[in-house]
Amino acid sequence: MVNLILFGPPGSGKGTQAAKLVETYQLLHISTGDMFRAEIGQQTPLGLEAKSYIDKGALVPDSVTIGMLQNKVDANPDVKGFIFDGFPRTVPQSEALDGFLNGRNNPVTALVMLEVPDDELINRLLERGKTSGRADDADESVIKNRIQVYKDETNPVFDYYAAQNKAEKVNGVGSIEEIYKRLCEVIDRSL
Ligand code: AMP
Repeated sequence: MVNLILFGPPGSGKGTQAAKLVETYQLLHISTGDMFRAEIGQQTPLGLEAKSYIDKGALVPDSVTIGMLQNKVDANPDVKGFIFDGFPRTVPQSEALDGFLNGRNNPVTALVMLEVPDDELINRLLERGKTSGRADDADESVIKNRIQVYKDETNPVFDYYAAQNKAEKVNGVGSIEEIYKRLCEVIDRSL
């Protein structure tokens, strides 16, 4: 099994690249952001709880997020592996992920981080906000909060996997194709 974590700040292109990588490596794409948005669309209790955090640009609590992610992994026992996009976003989420993947003898293969400067992230997210319908992309102060939350709470996830020699960085500025090729080079080396 191949378990890839596509990592990076909001607006770094994780969703775009994950959509291409799932085709190449025949993996299941799990985006916790997409899962929350689906729950919000269906107005489930989980969705209503998540929305109060997402609209502010804060993280949904680990207790909610980890349970949702684990259910999704458990519901797909026959896949070749997963691309995790937007998860893990905290060290406790990383520990939980390792706990249940190692318990199935299918550990994380690699974490690849897309590096993009802050001013480019803000421009990309404001641009995406014109068409995405996402409230959290439309407001510059919410965007800046998401980037700050990434630095404070999510960046340590990189160090957590670097300590296992599983973390790599890729330049996330360029065309979609260029970035995709950079990612494939790193992923192919880790397989
Ligand atoms: P994304 O689509 O990955 O940008 O996620 C949108 C929002 O969903 C984030 O700003 C968080 O509020 C929430 N979210 C997504 N994934 C997670 C996660 N792993 N942990 C906590 N909150 C998350």
